[in-house]
Amino acid sequence: MSTLQEIVAHCEELAFDLSFKRAGAWKAQGKDRVVIGHLPVYFPREVIHAANGLAVGILGGGDKKLIIKGDAYYQSYICHMPRSVIELALDKHFDDFDGFIFPSICDVIRNLSGMFQMLGEGKFVKYLDFPQNFKHHIGGTFYRYELQTVLDEIHKLNGVEVTAERLNHSIGMFNLNRALICQLYDIRNEFPWRMTAADVYHVVRAGYVIPVEEHNEILSQVIHLIQKEAGNPTDKIRVLVMGAFCEQPPVGLIRTIELAGCYVVEDDFLLGARWIQGDIETGSADPMEAITTAYLEKSTFSSSVYDVGNPKEARLIDLIRRRKVDGVIFAAPSFCDPALLDHPILQKECNDKNIRFISFLYSENTGQFKVIKEQVGTFSDSIKLWD
Ligand code: SF4
Repeated sequence: MSTLQEIVAHCEELAFDLSFKRAGAWKAQGKDRVVIGHLPVYFPREVIHAANGLAVGILGGGDKKLIIKGDAYYQSYICHMPRSVIELALDKHFDDFDGFIFPSICDVIRNLSGMFQMLGEGKFVKYLDFPQNFKHHIGGTFYRYELQTVLDEIHKLNGVEVTAERLNHSIGMFNLNRALICQLYDIRNEFPWRMTAADVYHVVRAGYVIPVEEHNEILSQVIHLIQKEAGNPTDKIRVLVMGAFCEQPPVGLIRTIELAGCYVVEDDFLLGARWIQGDIETGSADPMEAITTAYLEKSTFSSSVYDVGNPKEARLIDLIRRRKVDGVIFAAPSFCDPALLDHPILQKECNDKNIRFISFLYSENTGQFKVIKEQVGTFSDSIKLWD
């Protein structure tokens, strides 16, 4: 058994390997294996797993990739992630990838999928419209059709037939994965001093680039290790970070929030890994229906979902209460329309419920955290002193 530090270091290396070496090595071990990239926020990776594929999350270059050519593809007034994704493509980081899925989130992602098509990246590029109608016979039918088009593309590449048995097995693997991640968050919610938020981030993010079986093994080891007491509680406030569901904040920013006097006990980083709340039904004769039903009935709340009838501000307050949060940090990527359009609604709800919050913007390659540290530190102190 490795130590927690060794596991986290391994995960950090995997998570930020922009050459995707683990995916390439996995693919080389079987001639009908395919690597399929998907952008944030969510894609049901079970579907790709069942087709003998490895779903790899493409989360941008973060602060690890210098942008030179990517800026020429986009105007200045949009978020940063698509520039680094283009830069990665032009620098041949995706050469082991067979196809790409761009889930519908915003116009930027839609345009990025078009650029991938123009650049001839991969053997297929799919812009996947997620239904915004949550009725089974409308949105469900449409969603299932969209997923089937992905399976058809993969079938053209490797000829693998996705049987109910294969899909049920894959659903089970990802049910376990989500359950383990949720367990990790639950333990950390209770004992946040045992593992930093940045370390949790590295462990979860590694799961975006390695086979789910390996990730489940890593998560089990981490959970085993943090069951035991370690470290000492300090008088930090408990915060929820909201708005970082797509372009990821630099890890330095997550560390800064904790160093400035906060325990990040809940967040929406890497939200796709916890998108479905609970299990997808296994053992069904029609597992595609089970995946569809889970999306319609068990999706978490997000700015990328139109949520009439199930408003996200009420779900945010519920999450704040469940996690016993002292305050909310709204941290969104600069120019992120979905996040920034929602924040006034969410902040009004926080105001109405007398919940403290602050707000700032970031880019995936932000390198200076001094101002953020002062802002978060003041927020933390004000809650500790006067609440
Ligand atoms: S960060 Fe926001 S604006 Fe940029 S691609 Fe993601 S959802 Fe769209």
